[in-house]
Amino acid sequence: MNMSENDQDVCPRCGGSGWERIDDATISVRRCRCLDSARTGRMLGEARIPKRYEHCDLDSYLPGDPTQKKAKADVARFLEKYPLIDIGLLFLGPCGVGKTHLAVSLLKHIILEKGDSGLFYDFRDLLREIQGSWNSVSQASELEVLRPVLTADVLVLDELGANKPTEWVRDTIAHIINCRYNDRKLTVFTSNYPDGAGRAGEETLTDRIGVRLRSRLYEMCKVVEVKGKDFRHEIKQANYRF
Ligand code: ADP
Repeated sequence: MNMSENDQDVCPRCGGSGWERIDDATISVRRCRCLDSARTGRMLGEARIPKRYEHCDLDSYLPGDPTQKKAKADVARFLEKYPLIDIGLLFLGPCGVGKTHLAVSLLKHIILEKGDSGLFYDFRDLLREIQGSWNSVSQASELEVLRPVLTADVLVLDELGANKPTEWVRDTIAHIINCRYNDRKLTVFTSNYPDGAGRAGEETLTDRIGVRLRSRLYEMCKVVEVKGKDFRHEIKQANYRF
């Protein structure tokens, strides 16, 4: 029998009805598993994971340094324990060591394997969208931008501290972090700024976000320091061939 492309898309368990027949004395149908995969597919689409990181998962993270090995193990442990876990992760380290890769791997797993909602935001984009929402011709209100950020089961906030630390930036991030903390929602942060004392003239995370926010982050996250070579330069470059 020839099947058209559409026929092939139809779920073999429920034939597209959403109800799966089962051989059981008491019930004969149940909601089909394909609805779950449609739901997780939709949730993945809504998670705002940048295209550049869509491929990321734990298997494709290849540790080249003991701290990277430990960071990968920390993510695996987090996922193993989730949802019975009450602190997020704060990845700290220089550019290109895979902090975002690990954070996206975690987020994808939460959505695909745990069925919970996840959201990815670059810190700068989030602040830009909030500011843009004040514009009278903007489509979205501030509340519309903030609602998913406050309600997602797991939020990844990438590049924390990348914005110039004005009072407004600090107040905004404090609002988001405090709301999520009070609602016991997990947040995963990445930042390129060093913790504690930086090298001479180097700004630290505390310089960028302030002492109060830093100490709140320490309350709500396990710090995961990632070191090593910049993967983009050292490893990808070595593999490029013309
Ligand atoms: P960071 O967030 O620390 O700046 P990224 O996660 O953006 O680093 O990593 C830059 C690129 O290198 C991404 O494409 C990422 O998938 C890749 N990458 C980084 N570290 C690793 C690694 N250890 N194994 C595989 N890919 C890596």
